[in-house]
Amino acid sequence: MEILVLVKRVPATDSQIKPAADGKSYDPAGLEFVLNPYDEHAVEEALKTKAAKEGTVTVLTVGGKEAQKDLRTCLAMGADKAVLLDPGQEFDGKSLSEALAAKVKELAPEIVFCGKQSVDNDDAQIGPRLAGLLAWSCLTDAASLEIGDGTWTGQRDIEGAKEVVEGKLPAVISCSKGLNEPRYPNLKGIMAAKKKPLEEGSAELGAPALTVIALTPPPARPEPTIVGEGPDAVDALMDKLKNEAKVL
Ligand SMILES: Cc1cc2nc3c(=O)[nH]c(=O)nc-3n(C[C@H](O)[C@H](O)[C@H](O)COP(=O)(O)OP(=O)(O)OC[C@H]3O[C@@H](n4cnc5c(N)ncnc54)[C@H](O)[C@@H]3O)c2cc1C
Repeated sequence: MEILVLVKRVPATDSQIKPAADGKSYDPAGLEFVLNPYDEHAVEEALKTKAAKEGTVTVLTVGGKEAQKDLRTCLAMGADKAVLLDPGQEFDGKSLSEALAAKVKELAPEIVFCGKQSVDNDDAQIGPRLAGLLAWSCLTDAASLEIGDGTWTGQRDIEGAKEVVEGKLPAVISCSKGLNEPRYPNLKGIMAAKKKPLEEGSAELGAPALTVIALTPPPARPEPTIVGEGPDAVDALMDKLKNEAKVL
């Protein structure tokens, strides 16, 4: 079974994001970048699927040269090959999923795994958009998955319930955190990753449909006030909760 995993390089989740000088994007200076955490689950699920069904796991990202490092991480986890597509221009969810759809048609996998969202832009668009362009079935926010013979059965955790759905292959599966426990690359995997193929090319991006107008930080939180300590502070605290915070 040919399996494709879509991955993205993102700032680490504990980063302090600052808007760039253009006021429309974030400033990457000084940030530590990692593999999008949901994509680690996508890679893990692809490796589990390969173990059950045999085949090849390819990881793909659209990004700059620096994303080679993240692709090598996926190869060290156990993926077989990697593809890095240079965007060469700005893109949005529409143009990115069009470029991904073109590459999926070329690589012809039976299943595409991606993260349910990236933790920087949080669009949660790519999986469903890609499945729409390919006219494939799509499981979003997958919390469990069984691949059958030409079919899949998945579970999604929804508000107050678990939803079980099934569909036919080929499919796009967007992966959630509860799906599995991503493995850490071991030394053998890290050494093997250095020799695995990493193909580079250009993304066939269409025209974007969105324009970013502004990216601004949230308003600064007011400094906390200490109203006192112990039982003596209760009256002052109640007064502030009633008359300032107006939560009582
Ligand atoms: C006008 C405009 C210009 C933009 N220009 C740029 C730009 O130049 N460079 C840039 O990096 N972003 C740019 N962005 C942000 C870009 O649109 C988003 O990264 C993209 O829409 C995907 O959204 P997301 O990252 O929130 O992914 P989501 O839809 O939340 O991601 C879901 C999953 O899709 C997969 N995925 C996401 N991104 C990629 C990728 N790049 N390659 C492979 N798989 C992926 C991953 O598996 C991920 O977990 C721009 C946005 C706009 C609106």
